Amino acid sequence: MSATLLQRSLAAVWHPCTQMKHHETLPPVPIVGGEGPWLITENGQRLLDGISSWWVNLFGHCNPRINAALRDQLDRLEHAMLAGFTHPPVVELSERLAALTGGALGHAFYASDGASATEIALKMSFHAWRNLGLPQKNRFVCLEGGYHGETVGALAVTDVALFRDAYAPLVRLADTVPSPDARRAAPGESAADVARRAAGALAAKLDAEGEHIAAFILEPLVQGAAGMAMYDPEYLRLARALCDRHRVHLICDEIAVGCGRTGTFFAHEQADIRPDLLCLSKGISGGYLPLSVVLCRDDIFRAFYDDDMRRGFLHSHSYTGNPLACRAALATLDIFAEDDVLAANRERAALLGRLLAETFPGHAKVRHPRQRGMIAAFDVEDAPPDFSRRFFAAALAAGALLRPIGNTVYFMPPYVMGDAELRALFAAAAHALEGSLP
Ligand SMILES: *Cc1c(COP(=O)(O)O)cnc(C)c1O
Repeated sequence: MSATLLQRSLAAVWHPCTQMKHHETLPPVPIVGGEGPWLITENGQRLLDGISSWWVNLFGHCNPRINAALRDQLDRLEHAMLAGFTHPPVVELSERLAALTGGALGHAFYASDGASATEIALKMSFHAWRNLGLPQKNRFVCLEGGYHGETVGALAVTDVALFRDAYAPLVRLADTVPSPDARRAAPGESAADVARRAAGALAAKLDAEGEHIAAFILEPLVQGAAGMAMYDPEYLRLARALCDRHRVHLICDEIAVGCGRTGTFFAHEQADIRPDLLCLSKGISGGYLPLSVVLCRDDIFRAFYDDDMRRGFLHSHSYTGNPLACRAALATLDIFAEDDVLAANRERAALLGRLLAETFPGHAKVRHPRQRGMIAAFDVEDAPPDFSRRFFAAALAAGALLRPIGNTVYFMPPYVMGDAELRALFAAAAHALEGSLP
């Protein structure tokens, strides 16, 4: 008898972010198709993709417009190296991304994944200061609970014990400062008060050690992997001012919160600031192909511009600026423009908020319901240790892909999820919540 796809997968594939032994009780789900907000399993079950397949998918699976752009690009050029060469998709994408920052971040450097974008931003910041005669600026500051990827370099600024502790001896840890997470509000404190308090700690850090600090990296407005920790834009305004005062680069990691996820195209726009370096990945290719990009200010770029090779930024990846991935990103930006996606999402987000309020009102275990644009979340009190896996399994049985982070249940649907589908997603979540509590 021939082995099933699942049996072959378990024998040959090592899955990410997974204790493989857990697959003995909850095996991976074979997916053979996708259609809009739906994933289709091998046995024909349709699953609502409530978390955009790990936060990457914006306009649905097998989107006809992105598919058409990729087919067109396939017949022109699949790939060419970007060192010594250039091509239309990478040029157009770089121009359009710069324009989306109002021209503030005029140069784009490409890689294939988010962690690499983090490392590029860190290396660029450090090397820019060195080229400017300030090599002592060689340390980084990040937020408590910050997540910026899991390669050895990115782990330096990723403050998630589960991902970092085993590798701590390999990593040159950055310093952490308190998170402005609004859940930390004391009685009577507003989210803006928490932001000001956290900014006070950042001020103390930079006052004491600013001359040794190259950059401060954060996820604007929502710390995703920390469990959708949301905070007031006031923190970004204050952090921007503090970084300016101490000549510290501000790196906004918008790998998860960029591309309209929080309501504006970039999350940092809600604080009316610009970072010095901006990391994008995940949604930028519509969730189609591995692509990441670091946008930087022109003065950072100019710090490398020289006759001396060693003053250049000698970083590369084989697939830097891959034409297919760039074309997927261009098709994604086209959809934003043609469909006025940000306006449409305001209504979709309003429904998301209503469903969050209506589905779990007064639930004894539901804490801190919260929302920012197209992200909604709540925490579950007294959750059992294996709550996340239990909830995931119960949601699958109810027809939805939802995968809590610890005891935080969150919704991060693709922007093509219709009203009825959103309601079905929340119905599945309510069902899964009951099914996963003791
Ligand atoms: C996912 C993510 C990363 C890492 O991206 P990968 O492509 O998984 O390496 C970095 N920062 C943030 C904020 C993320 O959400």
